[in-house]
Amino acid sequence: MQTFKALVVETGDPYTAQIRQATLDELPQGDVLVQVAYSSLNYKDALAITGAGKVIRSFPMVPGIDLAGTVLESASPEYKPGDPVILTGWGVGERHWGGLAGLARVRSEWLVPLPEGLTLQQAMGIGTAGFTAMLCVMALEAHGLDKSKEVLVTGAAGGVGSLAVALLAQLGYRVVASTGRTSEEAYLKSLGAREILDRAVLSAPARPLESERFGGAVDTVGGAVLAGVLPRMAYGGSVAACGNAGGAKLETTVFPFILRGVSLLGIDSVMCPREKRLEAWQRLAHDLPRPLLETTLQTVSLEEVPGLAQALLQGQVRGRLVVKMA
Ligand code: NDP
Repeated sequence: MQTFKALVVETGDPYTAQIRQATLDELPQGDVLVQVAYSSLNYKDALAITGAGKVIRSFPMVPGIDLAGTVLESASPEYKPGDPVILTGWGVGERHWGGLAGLARVRSEWLVPLPEGLTLQQAMGIGTAGFTAMLCVMALEAHGLDKSKEVLVTGAAGGVGSLAVALLAQLGYRVVASTGRTSEEAYLKSLGAREILDRAVLSAPARPLESERFGGAVDTVGGAVLAGVLPRMAYGGSVAACGNAGGAKLETTVFPFILRGVSLLGIDSVMCPREKRLEAWQRLAHDLPRPLLETTLQTVSLEEVPGLAQALLQGQVRGRLVVKMA
């Protein structure tokens, strides 16, 4: 029986995440078998691995909401052995065994062909985080993002934040990066940020309307930070809200919405429809310069993942963690 290495999370007392050999017949149903070359570590994976958040819906579970690899077997006419593919979201790593294993059996409709010009490793440098950053940028653009005004990114030194800074700067926007780690100023400026804004400025209690400043914002933090972003938006500006690293509650007033026409745009990457996925990945392959992508990513081993999951939840990880599987 073929075996492969997998990080397996078991519930109970204690909650454990351990690397062990798994067998093919443990894999869930699906019409495509993928040899995983790389996965990545996202905020949601860290919650799943540590048990800090109720992310996993059934146990035992292989976490990993992202994977990139090569098709080994396919019962779908869309894919044949040898095809390079990527997968993000769709509940993989939450209710269907995910990417932190040598093999994954998945549904073909969840897969996206690797876009031309990207390697499997670069695709995981992007992963759910970069894909979400791109969805935020697309939502802001569709709403009419004004190039003459600054664009704010919160949680800027994290995965989604880093890639949002890089994408927006590359597209010619003046990016202000908000971070709790002002020691990351040089890194954020290397991605294209013009200015660094201390997170404490945004999370301090704000008036219902502050001076108008930002034409758009990507918010990965939520909570008090998002509450501080809304009163600082310029007339007609919009905020793409995708995260809750700083809290899920939002205490605000309606004044930015009813007096300045500000819009709050919700972003979800997990169930994002296929057409939009393909568009976002094409844009990522085109709009994200490879040297910037390389600046944001660090490649680690599966053995390092449990320790790094703790560090990520403590806000100590910069940019993206790519996990080498093959
Ligand atoms: P990371 O951990 O890489 O980045 C999160 C960043 O948020 C940190 O680097 C830090 O940035 C900031 N942060 C962390 N803790 C706090 C805190 N207590 N208060 C304020 N700021 C904090 O995570 P990801 O980039 O992978 O994900 C970011 C968020 O987006 C998460 O909430 C995640 O669940 C969500 N997400 C949502 C998706 C969707 O589909 N809607 C998809 C992907 C992610 P800094 O040090 O710069 O301040």
